[in-house]
Amino acid sequence: MKRRVTVVGGGASGLAAAIAAAENGAAVTLLERNPRVGKKILLTGNGRCNLGHAGFEAERYHGTLPQAAEILQKFSADAYFSRMGLYIREDSDGRLYPMSNAASAVLDALRMTAERCSVQTVCDTRVTGLTQTGRGYRVLAGAQSFDADAVVLAAGGSAAPNCGTDGNLLPVLRKMGYDITEPKPALCPVPTDPQRVRALKGIRVRAAVSAVGSRGAMKTETGELQFTEQALSGICVFNLSRLAAMHGKELRLSVDLLPDFTEAQAAQMLDDLLSVRGGMPCGELLTGVLPKRIGEQLCKQMFGSANVQADAALRDAAQKHMLLHLLRHWEFPVAGQAAFSQAQVTAGGVHGRCVRNTLESKLHKGLYFCGELLDLDGDCGGYNLAWAWSSGETAGRNAAKD
Ligand SMILES: Cc1cc2nc3c(=O)[nH]c(=O)nc-3n(C[C@H](O)[C@H](O)[C@H](O)COP(=O)(O)OP(=O)(O)OC[C@H]3O[C@@H](n4cnc5c(N)ncnc54)[C@H](O)[C@@H]3O)c2cc1C
Repeated sequence: MKRRVTVVGGGASGLAAAIAAAENGAAVTLLERNPRVGKKILLTGNGRCNLGHAGFEAERYHGTLPQAAEILQKFSADAYFSRMGLYIREDSDGRLYPMSNAASAVLDALRMTAERCSVQTVCDTRVTGLTQTGRGYRVLAGAQSFDADAVVLAAGGSAAPNCGTDGNLLPVLRKMGYDITEPKPALCPVPTDPQRVRALKGIRVRAAVSAVGSRGAMKTETGELQFTEQALSGICVFNLSRLAAMHGKELRLSVDLLPDFTEAQAAQMLDDLLSVRGGMPCGELLTGVLPKRIGEQLCKQMFGSANVQADAALRDAAQKHMLLHLLRHWEFPVAGQAAFSQAQVTAGGVHGRCVRNTLESKLHKGLYFCGELLDLDGDCGGYNLAWAWSSGETAGRNAAKD
């Protein structure tokens, strides 16, 4: 008789776990609460699915799971998907996408592979708990139950709850004795004082943004910064958002609006602009270097008005120095946490000390974890899906072993 493996959650890691367990000889049942599997996969990468990243970069991952490094190092998204007939292309930043540029192609490839190796998929089935039996586990889902020799939990984190991921299994796992790192929203905008950003809503600008705590800058990311009604956003901010969620109001974001200028080049640029536009309102001085509304906002912050004449406002070295400093260190306080509905991933989850290198639980033999349910999250750039596929493959393969 085949070993029976039940996988809970039909997202990225659950599909990978189900396929790996079936390919390793198990009879697999995949349980998903939504009417269809892979809802979130379709939303990834703005519908294009940034399914991985070339090479492994340890510093791009965060959490309490040192075991992840070996799993990720051995994994190649290219090799993984090419055997499913999905061709991959790499962009200039090392991000991997399906050649068709369609997230649906990734889900199709996974679904077809799962079907080919006889994974039994049961949708509209929300798992509410599990109990140990003589041989393994009974997975409970309302009035239904599913007996298995091994179980893989792949129910995801708390981010994007409209995809079925709301951390619903965490209380169950806590009761079973698991250490859970409190889930926080990550890869999301960082809320700030609305009065500081409202006038800048919709602006996108290249910048280096630093998360600054009481001991100085903790992390700096360069890229496109976006201003929204109440928050700073853009990929560079997303990559700082887990720090903002962890440290809250102790933290501030410091924006360098001239990341490609040396100090001397910035000073020269200001002198050049003053010689051309010195007679104009200060708010217009930086037009052509930065979006006009940013120039106006900076002048309002320094002089209380954007209409002061530039020459008069910046007549001595100290004032020029102040403006140059502001251009390099424009600070925004962190004002609370974004909602999970705005987040792409969850920082937190089942603590790494609860699982072995095989991703089997240290507390319950035959119970495995994978994906975002574990306390591991990555930066933007395909790192999270790389973890979902590789951890799912590891958990599923090991769960299939007797
Ligand atoms: C908008 C958006 C864009 C993203 N873009 C990217 C990207 O381009 N690249 C990247 O690397 N990452 C991206 N991510 C992150 C990535 O999608 C996730 O990290 C990844 O999907 C996590 O995989 P998972 O299997 O752990 O969880 P999920 O894919 O979230 O799947 C978990 C599944 O479990 C099901 N489930 C939950 N509870 C139960 C239950 N009790 N019973 C049964 N089923 C249950 C859920 O319905 C869900 O289908 C994005 C995320 C979002 C929200």
